[in-house]
Amino acid sequence: MTQLYKNYIAGEWVAGGSEIENRNPSDLSDVIGLYAQATSDQLEQALDQARVAQAEWAATGIEKKYNVLMAIGTEMMTRAEELGTLLSREEGKPLVEGKGEVYRAGQFFTYYAAESLRQMGDTADSTRENIEIDVRREALGVVGIISPWNFPTATASWKIAPALCYGNAVLWKPANATPASAVALTEIIAKQDIPKGLFSLVMGAGSEVGQRLVKSPKVDGISFTGSVPVGKGIARAAIENLTKIQMEMGSKNALAVMDDADVDLAVAMAAGGAFGGTGQKCTASSRLIVHSAIHDEFVSKLLVATEAMKVGHALEAGTQIGPVVSQQQLTENMAYVELGKSEGAELLCGGQRLEMPTEGYYMAPGLFINSNNDMRINREEMFAPLTAVIKVDSYDEALTTLNDTNFGLTAGIMTQNLARATHFRRNAKSGCVMVNLATAGTDYHVPFGGRGDSSYGPREQGSYAAEFYTVVKTTYISSGTPM
Ligand code: NDP
Repeated sequence: MTQLYKNYIAGEWVAGGSEIENRNPSDLSDVIGLYAQATSDQLEQALDQARVAQAEWAATGIEKKYNVLMAIGTEMMTRAEELGTLLSREEGKPLVEGKGEVYRAGQFFTYYAAESLRQMGDTADSTRENIEIDVRREALGVVGIISPWNFPTATASWKIAPALCYGNAVLWKPANATPASAVALTEIIAKQDIPKGLFSLVMGAGSEVGQRLVKSPKVDGISFTGSVPVGKGIARAAIENLTKIQMEMGSKNALAVMDDADVDLAVAMAAGGAFGGTGQKCTASSRLIVHSAIHDEFVSKLLVATEAMKVGHALEAGTQIGPVVSQQQLTENMAYVELGKSEGAELLCGGQRLEMPTEGYYMAPGLFINSNNDMRINREEMFAPLTAVIKVDSYDEALTTLNDTNFGLTAGIMTQNLARATHFRRNAKSGCVMVNLATAGTDYHVPFGGRGDSSYGPREQGSYAAEFYTVVKTTYISSGTPM
């Protein structure tokens, strides 16, 4: 019998109003489990208990917070193999990436364990005599976290860990496409000695549980990662209650490959950046802006590298590209392949659905050439193992093309010219810049976020996360009349 996994609400594991089935995208005959969908009453109960628990947690000493976060992180890192296998089984990314993600997620918790000991404020003299000023941060309160399926454990962890570190209560609504990873992380958090209801898992559809969460006046902040249309809807709903928001919504990242680049390195960075995670990364290199002087050499080598990538079952040794996450994503990807062709780009390889020994959502990585920056395949986030080459004749043209986008999460350049790299670092209109690196691949101790449609609100990760998860309090202290 298929196992039913429950929500964790106000400190108890509870069945929901209904369930959804979770299937392995590498093998549709593999049912991972049934996952409870939270009811509106359960959501209210979680919100009410979170308010009580948050007050207790905010008053809890920093060493206790350190111990809790460190225990969560350490367990995740220790169990990275097991939990990474589960993640890859339900999301479809190759096992090495699944394990890496869980380990990285653990590092977010250990990083914020240390950060919980490092909560320094400021002091200042008043402009008035005998008055001193103390500026410190306090918890925001009850935070709703809405996370996507493409990094089901890491994205949630880089939100949950700072939320708890800075003294908040959390209600987590994970993506319904990846509930198993959510239950696994919740089981680890639920083991900790924390106030009852400090952390609740509320699985359910975004349009139902997610919407109720963002519309609730009982929530002080919403941290969201997902698509632009959903993000805009969340912003509209949140503003009704003046709820603080932080949103990361994808991108259309470009890697500029200059005439002085190490071409073999550029090919490796382009292939990894475009097709890692089956292209389902907000940092994916989905535009390759290539100087005409090395265009042909770059394209012929990238073609070889793309065709050599092994597509297969996420848990099979040697797989470099797993299936895409769902039938809906596959259908959208195929539509983008047809769109690119109809717009006049040339599909050099891939882009077709693949048959494998197990039935799943497999497709061959696709490489477009002869594309231009006005095409929709170069303007919309495809979230697919697809990338497109745009030929340019100069660095200036490359930079102008790269910046001509509504998004701005990451931008990369391949060059051996220091002056050019420096100019690029200063003039690329994006939140993260990569020099001689793929556009994907970031660290856990520094800020992450973008410009334009990519992000809204304060940055995530590193000590910058405090900006969202805390409020600043300025206290004036009079020492009375001078002695
Ligand atoms: P969504 O934006 O629909 O989903 C992201 C999260 O938001 C999920 O937990 C989802 O829940 C939830 N959600 C959906 N609708 C609402 C709503 N009305 N109110 C509150 N929460 C909601 O992204 P998809 O998963 O559908 O992916 C679609 C596209 O979004 C991708 O193809 C890609 O372009 C982009 N995307 C970008 C990501 C990034 O890293 N920036 C991550 C994921 C997607 P549920 O899915 O359970 O219904």
